[in-house]
Amino acid sequence: MRVLIMGDMEGVAGIVHWDQVSHDSAMYQEGRRLYTEELNAAIRGAFAGGADEVLVVDSHGAGAAQSNKGPAFNSLIPELIDPRCEFVTHHGWANYLQVFEDGCDACFFVGIHARGGTPGGVLSHTIASMHWWNVFINEQVVGEIGIVAAICGHYGVPMALVTGDDKACEEATALLGPGVKTVAVKRGLSRYSARHIPPVRARQMIEHGAVEALRNLRSAKPFIPAQPTAVRFQIVTADVMDGYRKRPGIEIVDGQNLVSRGANFMEAWSKVAPY
Ligand SMILES: [Zn+2]
Repeated sequence: MRVLIMGDMEGVAGIVHWDQVSHDSAMYQEGRRLYTEELNAAIRGAFAGGADEVLVVDSHGAGAAQSNKGPAFNSLIPELIDPRCEFVTHHGWANYLQVFEDGCDACFFVGIHARGGTPGGVLSHTIASMHWWNVFINEQVVGEIGIVAAICGHYGVPMALVTGDDKACEEATALLGPGVKTVAVKRGLSRYSARHIPPVRARQMIEHGAVEALRNLRSAKPFIPAQPTAVRFQIVTADVMDGYRKRPGIEIVDGQNLVSRGANFMEAWSKVAPY
């Protein structure tokens, strides 16, 4: 069994501030350790639950996503990561598709945050808060959980485990149904505060959750939006919208909205995918 683990930083226990997840901040090094150890917990659980191959994809932008000047999508600490896995870094957001072409049985999303605008969602945003306000799939508002679940779903892969704050977990269950196992490692009190499970115990919960997710894998269903599929972006600023005007196949609705349509989600998504 091959398991894909997508990692993001904002939903990790102990993390509440951009300084812990941004490449140019002193506290980033602490965030990297917390993040890498939660990934390790998910890796342990995946192997204990029956995986014989685990691939980790770092999908946290670290605030440098649109340039080559910082460690974009390169936050995990290589020398700490469980030697049984392989990992992908610096490849762009949710963009590593080879794992699906090779064949994949389950996806875990570790350390993910709630979608932009979620009350009490720690560091809540969708893709990047200064550029995207909201993303809709067939007019249903989604965050990064929904986008990644739809990418997985296109290849028939279920999102089996989601870890993050309680708001991200609620978002996952509301969208994907009760078949997705969730592990809440903190309770969001505001966008920048939380009541945490201490990291050591949070990792135990993630490890156990990963085992359970694979044992109950049949109850997790791939998320496949209705076809044909429309992806609508609500854009924050005019300069970001201007970047989309040059891309083919995109309908600019007004100053803040654009739509991409396709026979299925991936066809629509690939025209507007960031990074
Ligand atoms: Zn992130």
